Amino acid sequence: MSLSTKVTSEPQGRRPTPVPSPQYASNGLDVWTMMNQVAASVNAVNLGQGYMSYPPKEFITRAAQSALEENTHNQYAPPRGRPGLLEQVGIHFANRLSRPIDASTELSIHAGANEALLSVFTAFLEHGKGQEVILMEPAFDQYTPNIIMSGGKPVYVPLRVQSADKDPSKDVISSHDWKLDMDELEAAITENTRIIVVNTPHNPVGKVFTREELEQIGAIAARHNLLILADEVYEHLTFGVEHISIATLPGMWERTVTVGSAGKMFGVTGWRVGWSVGPAELIQPTLSAHTRIVFTSNTPLQEGVASAFKQARENDFLNVQCQEYERRRNRLMAIFDDVGLPYVVPDGAYYMLVNAAAIKIPSDYDFPAFIEERGANFKLVYFFIKEFGVSGIPPTEFYSEPHKHLANDYIRFAFCKTDEGLDEAAKCLQSLKRYLKETS
Ligand code: PMP
Repeated sequence: MSLSTKVTSEPQGRRPTPVPSPQYASNGLDVWTMMNQVAASVNAVNLGQGYMSYPPKEFITRAAQSALEENTHNQYAPPRGRPGLLEQVGIHFANRLSRPIDASTELSIHAGANEALLSVFTAFLEHGKGQEVILMEPAFDQYTPNIIMSGGKPVYVPLRVQSADKDPSKDVISSHDWKLDMDELEAAITENTRIIVVNTPHNPVGKVFTREELEQIGAIAARHNLLILADEVYEHLTFGVEHISIATLPGMWERTVTVGSAGKMFGVTGWRVGWSVGPAELIQPTLSAHTRIVFTSNTPLQEGVASAFKQARENDFLNVQCQEYERRRNRLMAIFDDVGLPYVVPDGAYYMLVNAAAIKIPSDYDFPAFIEERGANFKLVYFFIKEFGVSGIPPTEFYSEPHKHLANDYIRFAFCKTDEGLDEAAKCLQSLKRYLKETS
């Protein structure tokens, strides 16, 4: 059959040339690509982006390989997810949340936690109504664009450092010193507020919210009848403190969607498998949005994750892995102790904020325009990468414009890296000492 439509290269009528939406028109680099490029230009040790520089455990990759070889695991999965993975995630959350989970109504599998987050925003925000979502800053950089894409408006409440007698530019402080002012949180709520996002363990601060903090946030959510989006992708990584899911607090299950990530849990961020869990009334619209965003997550790696979950329960993988991360965290802290830069001790997740206020950047240092225009924190990180050969991420990227100054002195490093990588970083950072300002 041939189509007889006449093809003409002349524009017809007065239809304007399609232009991209302003949100996507700029070809500006995202912070990850930009800093990866700067790092590659000097062959820096990459402690920037939060991906593992070591391979997953063999039982995990073997699970995926066997799934790919199974003839039945290569076609569309049901949008909610493969039954085997739903069952496994259901068992995990029944333990984690101490309640029975109905995997056929209270769970959905997603293309990574990112897509689970977007699905929740898409499902619960209406375009054109000015509906607001409260984010605590620093906030994982995907939240804001996802809220805007879903027609919502992000409203920011920063965590504020309250470290009593300590000076964060000179002293090591605790991630617990980053506090949420509950009055400030409540004051940010308007009649348009619909959702509060609670990220614990927190990227990039490493803060693990305490029961008391979560109770206070929960009470505010209940008072204003808000949905809680609990981003708990680092639930399995806490060091000496307990991770509490806000959904386990009295009255919170009903208003909470909890999001998680196989990428984080099993060290396979490229597999793009995540999940959402919550009451059926909240998961059903989340699943409907997911079905229209990506339809379904990939089949073989869902099977791989299902098998990994099952084996992880048998070989105590999550506990062993957590100890390995704690060792890497301690190593990174020791490196900065040695060079004399203070940091924020992370109680969870795999990032550490280092306070680099003591580094003296020469006044005539040459910064490229794409860094210069992003402000002081980008300049600090650029200088750090170029001069010391170790890359990090500028945490101002995790802030709205009015609050960026709160992070100007910090650099975020990820410690999901090999021992060799950390040793190499330690060597490179020896050169840092000569740039430290005299501190009294
Ligand atoms: N939430 C937070 C706080 C994260 O740090 C990340 C990944 N960096 C995600 C969600 C996304 O997880 P995934 O890779 O499963 O999409």
